[in-house]
Parts: sequence; C-alpha cells; structure tokens
Amino acid sequence: MRFQNKVALVTGGSSGIGRATAIAFAREGASVVVASRREDEGKLTVQMIRDANGEGTFIQTDVANSAEIQKLIDKTIDIYGRLDCAFNNAGTEGVFAPMTELTEEVWDQTIAVNLKAVWLCMKYEIEALLKQGTGGAIVNTSSWLAVGGLAGSTIYSASKAGIDGLIRPAVLEFAQHGIRINNINPGIIDTPMLRRFGDDEALLKPFIAHTPMQRLGTPEEVAETVLWLCSDAASFVTGQTILVDGGWTIPGLRN
Ligand code: NAP
Repeated sequence: MRFQNKVALVTGGSSGIGRATAIAFAREGASVVVASRREDEGKLTVQMIRDANGEGTFIQTDVANSAEIQKLIDKTIDIYGRLDCAFNNAGTEGVFAPMTELTEEVWDQTIAVNLKAVWLCMKYEIEALLKQGTGGAIVNTSSWLAVGGLAGSTIYSASKAGIDGLIRPAVLEFAQHGIRINNINPGIIDTPMLRRFGDDEALLKPFIAHTPMQRLGTPEEVAETVLWLCSDAASFVTGQTILVDGGWTIPGLRN
C-alpha cells in the first residue's frame, strides 16, 4: 500500500476524476478528505471508500470562497493530524462560446474556480506542509486545453494555462522543503463534465476519431497518474505538466 499512514486531500472529489482519485488513494491506504459543494455526491464518494474498507471524510467546500479553502485545510489537519498529498482538481467548464458572446461575469466565475482557487489551495497547503516540516506532494488538474484549443474555450483555456504557469515558480520557492508540485493535463476523459457538452455518441465521435488511441480516457486512468506523481516512485519529479490524453495533443496525421 503506497499511501499507508498518509493523508490525501482531493478537491472536486464528488465526481469524475476527483472521485476516482479519492477512491484510488484510499485503496492504497491513505485517509482521504473529499471536498466539494454537493454534500450528497461528496458523501457518496466517502461511502464508496468505506465500502472498500478505506478511510475518508467529506468536508463541504466551495473553492470559489477563500475562507472555505482555508477552513478545509485547517479541518483536514484537525481531523487527521497531518497532510501529505493534495489533489487540487475542482474545476468548472464555465461557458464555451465565442469570445464576443462571453461576459466578464463568466470570466470572473471561471477564473475564480479554475485558477484563483488552485493558487489559494496551494498557498494554504504549502503553509501547512511547511509547518509540518515533512515535505509533501501537490498535483493540480490542468487540461489539454492549456496547450490546445477548442472554438469557444478562451476563458477555460486561459484558466488552465494559468495553472501550468503558477507551478514552476512555486517549485523554485519550495523544492528545498521537500514539496513536489506537478500538474496533470487530461485529454478527453469520460466524466459528467464531458457529458454536459452532449451525451450524444455522435457528438463524441470526432473526439474519439482524433485521439490516436481511438477512445475516451477514463477517470481511473487519470487517477493512476496522480497517485504515481504523489508516490515515492516520483520522488525526483517536480514542476511538470503531464498530459494524460491517449496522444490527443500530438500534432500530425494518424495512420
Ligand atoms: P466533473 O465530474 O464535473 O467534476 C468536477 C468536480 O469539481 C466536481 O466534484 C465538482 O463538485 C467540483 N467543483 C466544481 N466547482 C466547484 C466549486 N466551486 N467548489 C468545490 N468544488 C467544485 O468533471 P471532471 O471531468 O471530473 O473534472 C475534474 C477536473 O478535470 C476539472 O478541473 C476539469 O476542468 C478537468 N478536466 C477534465 C477533462 C475531461 O475531459 N473530463 C479534461 C481536462 C481537464 P461539486 O459540483 O459537488 O462542487
């Protein structure tokens, strides 16, 4: 068990990639804090963890609210006494539309959840890790859209590219304290977020056709990469953005 006696925090743990990662951490022995706004879905993740004999707690959190983020980190330490791994994964697709149709309000809401909240989570997590003096591992969820684009994705792409930008200086600031910080950049992953763009198989067909591996990714495949990045197996890996995308972002033509 790679995470025995460790404590892992997962934001956006009520669904999709976050839920799969929370369950995977618990299966590997970690005590897991699941954070999200929806109580029923967050508690369901914890129930799934407990059904598999794991340990988990739900802490209701809106990451758009900085006081709630601070409270989340404090409560995690209160409940489990420490923090070892943090997966800052909560995110919103916001609104996909041409720039000319998007509003400042959508910009503010999307950036608040996808970028400002990740900065705040990192800030308070790093403060806790420094106080603890043990080092730790942080992984944030960026996106292939940080390095690519879809018509309509200007705000979402900017929010995710921002996450890619903020980890490198943070590594320079805290690597000497044993804190590793990496991003995962998922490709097209079959989650409720993807399905909100359209549940229609015809709509997903071009995405599948463009992916060299000819299928959607699963939340569990992303979770495995997060666990590896948080594990001792990745002890010399920091400041990286790792695409988990079945080859989606490779420019070129497939056979
Ligand atoms: P999802 O199933 O919709 O999950 C999104 C999670 O974020 C939910 O648990 C949601 O919980 C949480 N969340 C959203 N706003 C929040 C807020 N204000 N406060 C707290 N939690 C909040 O989507 P997913 O695909 O797993 O997405 C996970 C991450 O992967 C996101 O950052 C997304 O941008 C990124 N991503 C996804 C894909 C993909 O193809 N699916 C590709 C690239 C990147 P509540 O609603 O309960 O608050």
